[in-house]
Amino acid sequence: MAWLLVKNGIRVAIIERHPDFSREFRGEGIQASVVKHLDELGLMDQILKKGMGIRAEAARVFFDNKPVAVLKGIDGNTDFGLILHQEKFLAHLHEKLSESPLYTSYLGHNATQFDGKDEKIVSVRIADKQKKEQSISADVFFITTGRGTALRKKLGMKSFKVATHWNILWILLPEPEQKELLPKGFRAYLNGDSLFIMYTNSEGMIQLAWGRRDENVLKQRDFDQRKSALLSEIPRQYKTLIERGYTQASRSQFLKVECDRLHQWHKKNVLFLGDAAHTMTPVAGQGINLAMRDSIVAANHCIPLLQNNHPIDQIVFHNIEKERIKEVKMMQKFQQKFGYFMLGAPKWQSKIFFLILLPVLKKVGIQKRMLRKIQTGVSDVRFEHKS
Ligand SMILES: Cc1cc2nc3c(=O)[nH]c(=O)nc-3n(C[C@H](O)[C@H](O)[C@H](O)COP(=O)(O)OP(=O)(O)OC[C@H]3O[C@@H](n4cnc5c(N)ncnc54)[C@H](O)[C@@H]3O)c2cc1C
Repeated sequence: MAWLLVKNGIRVAIIERHPDFSREFRGEGIQASVVKHLDELGLMDQILKKGMGIRAEAARVFFDNKPVAVLKGIDGNTDFGLILHQEKFLAHLHEKLSESPLYTSYLGHNATQFDGKDEKIVSVRIADKQKKEQSISADVFFITTGRGTALRKKLGMKSFKVATHWNILWILLPEPEQKELLPKGFRAYLNGDSLFIMYTNSEGMIQLAWGRRDENVLKQRDFDQRKSALLSEIPRQYKTLIERGYTQASRSQFLKVECDRLHQWHKKNVLFLGDAAHTMTPVAGQGINLAMRDSIVAANHCIPLLQNNHPIDQIVFHNIEKERIKEVKMMQKFQQKFGYFMLGAPKWQSKIFFLILLPVLKKVGIQKRMLRKIQTGVSDVRFEHKS
């Protein structure tokens, strides 16, 4: 969002609670719909050249360690998408934007409160690590603070839950000696009781997401017990990697995977976008994609008004939400249904879905149509201004 606004001559201040862009674990899978946008922004070459991302050849799904689906790019020959290293990518955007006098950043500052009168928020209060407060004034506020953001409550925003099937333990594993263990993109191993989603990150390491019907083991404090549970469930070809590569020092984080949506994405002169407006689960790697596409649509509507010092009223925000809501609803519904079969359903149902229903859907062409929407997006999003 900041990139698009600054590139179009609009003054922006960003507030990020971390001192840099090295972040909590988060998904990095980018679909074809957003690879296209990154290309249009002229960023794809740099992403690949500077190691900010690597191409994801395919997403492969296994049930009981048997392959059940291989998802390639839109036309079946191209890559499935991209694994974008958020830390490096965001740091790159920040570095480039910092060259502009229009861009100010408050890294290491937490946005805590809004101040304003009845009709308008005039400033946001931010605090650094030492709890030193200051106020940042602005005409418009875009809230992109992700899942579980406390800023929803500060503005009295109401949301409803779409789904929660399972939570996840992220584990970062070293590069395996056997190269065939490295996914050329994504792999999902399911068996009805636990799931493993893995991909190769831009450093050649394996990023592993472990979900489980009984999640207590994921939160287990005793490392040895957790490791032994992991060893008993991980597909056998990965056992040696876990034995040698999963240690007390391995980076790891438990993540709550909820899916929800605000009733209305805006209030006064404040607009929520991305996970802050509609929190996505990791199913089918949609959240980053939707967040970026939200920003493009919001920028399309706001740029001409901001360039001409025109106020942005509720109708503008309403129109942004209206343009985005269809895609968000459909993707959340898909995440809810597919996520259920990945882990929430009784094991026999998951088995029937992945081993019988999915191949039938493929035969009659439904799987392809469904996937097309997942990969290319539901709505037609395009840049209307300088990108
Ligand atoms: C386990 C897991 C795997 C996933 N895998 C994928 C995937 O492969 N592909 C995909 O597309 N999506 C994936 N997702 C979803 C995806 O991570 C999110 O949908 C996406 O990151 C949302 O982007 P965002 O910019 O809205 O929010 P975020 O990426 O969450 O960014 C929010 C930012 O705001 C900052 N912040 C928060 N509060 C404050 C505050 N008060 N003040 C200042 N700064 C603040 C945070 O530090 C953070 O940098 C996954 C999700 C999970 C849980």
